[in-house]
Amino acid sequence: MKIICVGRNYVDHAKELNNPVPKQPLLFMKPSTALLLEEKPFYYPEFSNEIHYELELVLRIVKNGRHVQPKFARGYYEQLALGIDFTARDIQRKCKEKGHPWEKAKGFDHSACLSRFIDFPVPGKEGINFRLLKNSQEVQTGNSNDMIFDFDYLIQDISKYFKLQIGDLIYTGTPAGVGPVTIGDLLEGYVNGQKLLHCEIK
Ligand code: MG
Repeated sequence: MKIICVGRNYVDHAKELNNPVPKQPLLFMKPSTALLLEEKPFYYPEFSNEIHYELELVLRIVKNGRHVQPKFARGYYEQLALGIDFTARDIQRKCKEKGHPWEKAKGFDHSACLSRFIDFPVPGKEGINFRLLKNSQEVQTGNSNDMIFDFDYLIQDISKYFKLQIGDLIYTGTPAGVGPVTIGDLLEGYVNGQKLLHCEIK
């Protein structure tokens, strides 16, 4: 099982970190040991002083496939979850400066918080709304209509490089509003008004 993540998939988030808006999906991976499941707490790691939350819509792959054609992409996912792409922003900044890979900043243990899955919402014009509360205050809101590369495009593009396998997860990118967590914080994530994600920082 692999966790494929998309960076800078919302224009407003790319701009808030002073990054260019990508012309193709920016992809990176987390190992399976990054998963944080079942509403378990996130323990603040000792190697960072700047852990950020990034709330993302997450797909789970239900079919094996390579070079998926656009018209078949929708058949590769059936359910949706919320995830937090925990990021050691201080380490990521150093990696970027030196042109080094991001894994230590993005793929560390328990950096991929994942909620339970729900059936994929029937797509309407209004898109899929999601939001994150930190200590009961709204810190991020997003809508799937604002993704630069939509779900089906991501399936098509990712499968050109990486064979999709049943159980793989795709973290589809975060909207604007990313920020730090501190010990004692509570993160709660909602999709279309339904609470899916609950994570305490310890
Ligand atoms: Mg992210």
